[in-house]
Amino acid sequence: MSLSTETESCDLCIVGAGLAGMNALAVASEYLGRGQRVLLVDRRLRVGGMWVDTYPYVRLHQPHPWFTAGDIPWTQGHDRRHLATRSEVLDHFTHCLDVVRQRVTVDTLFGWEFDGFTESDGMATVRVSAADGRTRTITTPRLINAAGFAVTPNDPLPVQSHQVRSVSPNFCDVDEIASDGAPVWVIGGGKTGMDTAHALITADPHREVSMVAGSGTYFLSRDETFPRGRRRWWSGTPASVSGAHMLSHFDGTNEDEANRWFRDTYGVWPTQGADTYVLGIMSAAESRAIAAGLREVAMDRFTDVVDGPDGPVMTFASGQRRTVAPGSWIINCTGYVLRDAGPYQPYLSPGGSVLSIQLRSATMHLTSFMAYFMTHMLYRDRLADAPLYEMDAIDLRAKSKVILPFGILCLSQHNLSVMFERLPNAVFLRCGSNVDSWYPLTRQLRGSLTFLLRHRRDRDNARRTLDTLRERFDLRCGPLAAPHVR
Ligand SMILES: Cc1cc2nc3c(=O)[nH]c(=O)nc-3n(C[C@H](O)[C@H](O)[C@H](O)COP(=O)(O)OP(=O)(O)OC[C@H]3O[C@@H](n4cnc5c(N)ncnc54)[C@H](O)[C@@H]3O)c2cc1C
Repeated sequence: MSLSTETESCDLCIVGAGLAGMNALAVASEYLGRGQRVLLVDRRLRVGGMWVDTYPYVRLHQPHPWFTAGDIPWTQGHDRRHLATRSEVLDHFTHCLDVVRQRVTVDTLFGWEFDGFTESDGMATVRVSAADGRTRTITTPRLINAAGFAVTPNDPLPVQSHQVRSVSPNFCDVDEIASDGAPVWVIGGGKTGMDTAHALITADPHREVSMVAGSGTYFLSRDETFPRGRRRWWSGTPASVSGAHMLSHFDGTNEDEANRWFRDTYGVWPTQGADTYVLGIMSAAESRAIAAGLREVAMDRFTDVVDGPDGPVMTFASGQRRTVAPGSWIINCTGYVLRDAGPYQPYLSPGGSVLSIQLRSATMHLTSFMAYFMTHMLYRDRLADAPLYEMDAIDLRAKSKVILPFGILCLSQHNLSVMFERLPNAVFLRCGSNVDSWYPLTRQLRGSLTFLLRHRRDRDNARRTLDTLRERFDLRCGPLAAPHVR
């Protein structure tokens, strides 16, 4: 039986109901009228993106008010320092959708896959399909493809051994692991690895928990970035300031030296060494608890567990081997972000009707900021002629993990300056994800003044650095190639 294709139209179609899509929606709702209709499409069954099916013990790494869509405040009544749980984050996503629905009509197509679009005469025709074979086409003057980080759950790591239990935190609960006393090996030393180790160690300080940490990950110090109480008036370093310091040490060629400086000045890390930074945040107390609780840390790359004559043996990329206890848990915490993505799409389509928020044409360091600012640019018709840079962040990560944070922060610095000259100040003041507003107004004003005085000079430096990265890494990094119309 062939299923017919339904056709419908809307004023805006957004693909992706994660943080990026919800930021695009919140911003677009400020430009659309009550009678206009937005279609929100996601293959998942509700709003929230990766938070729908990530591991249950995850916590926000920044204070919760700064994780939001547009400038929608949280309403759950927590202290501002609270690091929200997964269910609290999901409740906030629901709240954001409710708030936007008071401004504009939003219909959802949850459980639907975006299959592509064509564009002609300033209109996009979007194809979506459901798991049961139904298809729809949607015609719209604007499509925002906000797949963003497009995080998908990790499978367990494949291991040859039959004597260990290889699991993924997305599909097992730490409670299940906590209920028996077998040793645990956390594979990966990024945010997921640290969350997993911390959850296990704090639940049972005597538990044998070890980690395979690769070359090690360091985190931005939460204590330094979000000082508590009155200390906000005189101590701590706002994220924009530490980011600017980081970039002032980097010229596109000296990443090892600049990375060491940044880590030693603003970083915390619980492992012996750490050279990778993926914009994660951790407190000194968490770092100490993890360092004290880990039985063993292998600064190496995990390859397999095989069954030897004396029991299971873990093997590493360096060629090292070590025995592990039969029954051990092997938890795949090898990371989710910037691993892969769909094919390249320019951030703005040639016809000007499709905005793409994804990592092959990244315009800022985080998808929340990208969606927030780029949607404002789209609705104010400022995108087509803005000399923004786009970058293939997936390719850069594959070529150098150490360079990645420098590259994407440099991109952000460049593009923020370009957008600052094209958007009203209110857009910047109302950006709910801007963690600098943790600080009192006087310190924020000082930061704004510094930005005003420096941003053109910093933009020129950033452009030179980005051009250097393009040449060094044969990277897509520069202005849009094709002309655009609108
Ligand atoms: C373990 C982990 C912890 C993190 N913790 C934090 C944190 O504490 N704070 C923070 O700020 N950031 C954190 N991040 C980064 C985080 O990924 C972002 O903050 C944010 O939630 C990502 O939102 P997103 O919309 O870009 O991507 P996603 O959350 O991946 O959402 C994208 C959505 O698009 C949908 N989609 C994609 N392609 C299609 C398609 N073809 N058809 C239909 N639907 C599609 C997906 O189903 C998904 O729902 C964390 C990331 C990870 C992996």
